[in-house]
Amino acid sequence: MDIFSPVDGSVISQVADTTPEEVADAVSAARRGFDVWSARSPMERGRALRRVGEAMLQHEDELAELEARNLGAPLPSSLAMVRRAAQSFFYFGELADKVAGDVVPVEGDYFAYSKREPHGVVAAVVPWNAPIIFATKKIAPALAFGNACLLKPAPETPLSALLLERLMLESGLPEGVVRVLPGGRATGEALTGDPRVSLIVFTGHDGTGKAIAAAAAGNLVPTALELGGKSAQLVFADAPANRLVEGLASGIFANAGQACIAGSRILVERGAEEDLHRRLAERTRAIRVGDPLAPSTEVGPQTTRTQQEKTERMIRDAVAGGASLLAQAELPDSADLGDGYYVAPTLLADVRPDMEIVREEVFGPVAVLASFETEAEAIAMANDTEYGLAAGVWSTDVARAHRVADRLRAGTVWVNTYGVISDRMPFGGIGRSGYGREGGRAAVELYTRLKSVWTSLHDDEVTRDIELP
Ligand code: NAD
Repeated sequence: MDIFSPVDGSVISQVADTTPEEVADAVSAARRGFDVWSARSPMERGRALRRVGEAMLQHEDELAELEARNLGAPLPSSLAMVRRAAQSFFYFGELADKVAGDVVPVEGDYFAYSKREPHGVVAAVVPWNAPIIFATKKIAPALAFGNACLLKPAPETPLSALLLERLMLESGLPEGVVRVLPGGRATGEALTGDPRVSLIVFTGHDGTGKAIAAAAAGNLVPTALELGGKSAQLVFADAPANRLVEGLASGIFANAGQACIAGSRILVERGAEEDLHRRLAERTRAIRVGDPLAPSTEVGPQTTRTQQEKTERMIRDAVAGGASLLAQAELPDSADLGDGYYVAPTLLADVRPDMEIVREEVFGPVAVLASFETEAEAIAMANDTEYGLAAGVWSTDVARAHRVADRLRAGTVWVNTYGVISDRMPFGGIGRSGYGREGGRAAVELYTRLKSVWTSLHDDEVTRDIELP
């Protein structure tokens, strides 16, 4: 597979596509690896994972540069992503030996307990927009609790995951326990369709999520799906002025808008809109778009040509359908941008609720603005979406902030901030944004299954108390 640079469209690397036969071999090896790995003590597994975290930090510049070149994210954000990704190995490495079951009081003369055990081979399939984060977010918890893990990165951005694979093997993870299988849809189908896989964790588009869920249903394999979003940011007139504009702008323009959590619908209380539109428009026009490796760049190109064309098409159609261009960042001279996949960060106003730009995920640096009169109307507008990944509330009225957070139909709500994510907090969506939760205790529940053990404490000859349902 050719791997392209989003900066100029040139081929920066070539990576071997994993064939379905190679996937089957990797699953066989992972089954063997699982037997070895799950027999290790949780303490030992935790130490091994923390060694991977250390190795990532030792190679953080190399990983960040690969990510910047392949993904197109500015170098400082790429470095921040690599460091956050490494933290997953420390956090789950620490958590590995803190998972315990329960001793349960039951009727009769029994010692009854539940324990958590790993599923077996976990298949992880991830998208192209934050490759190193998605790789570690799935591999670290899967391995921590004793599973083997096979990761299929997106065909567009496999480079950082391949380097991570090397670091994991050099850190001493046993053969077969973890593998990165580059490839496209056929590789993904072979992996998620293999009946020997015991859990599927997927991040990506909802259409793909449905196909994977259907394949998983055929094998009765549990799945967690983290899908897209069309998240609203609700701005009340009493929003904290000092952080609002930066918060809204980074909520939509971070990673060039290629974020599932992008706050792409900005809903503003009537009366506050004129001032906010002006300030947000000024900030948007001032965004420095350019080469991700240049120190001054705030927003890089879109990662793929397809995404660039999709974003441009959706802006064009919105304007043709009556939306007005409130502001657009200036792109540097085309001579400097060459053949890169750049799209100017854009704000659109005068949109109607039924427009594609309001209903569908763009996955690019584009936000729509609309206004509301009352709190109830704000909540209804925010919830008027098939997605349910995230939302933001901007208000200094504490009671209102909690009231609104309660009523928003979304897996995550941020109040007076946006986009903060941690391995310690549950993360996932509702509706078209998917199901299942990763992070913290939710990750323990996702990556392990419960076993119940009953032991009789009496030594009578006959068991008189067997109860069949
Ligand atoms: P995608 O669904 O096209 O691809 C995701 C992955 O699935 C890729 O690795 C791809 O090769 C693989 N794949 C494709 N078809 C498959 C099949 N039939 N069986 C198995 N695997 C298959 O998504 P994308 O375009 O790479 O990423 C963008 C999407 O990801 C957006 O919708 C975005 O919102 C979503 N996303 C969600 C989250 C989240 O945490 N909720 C985070 C980031 C991105």
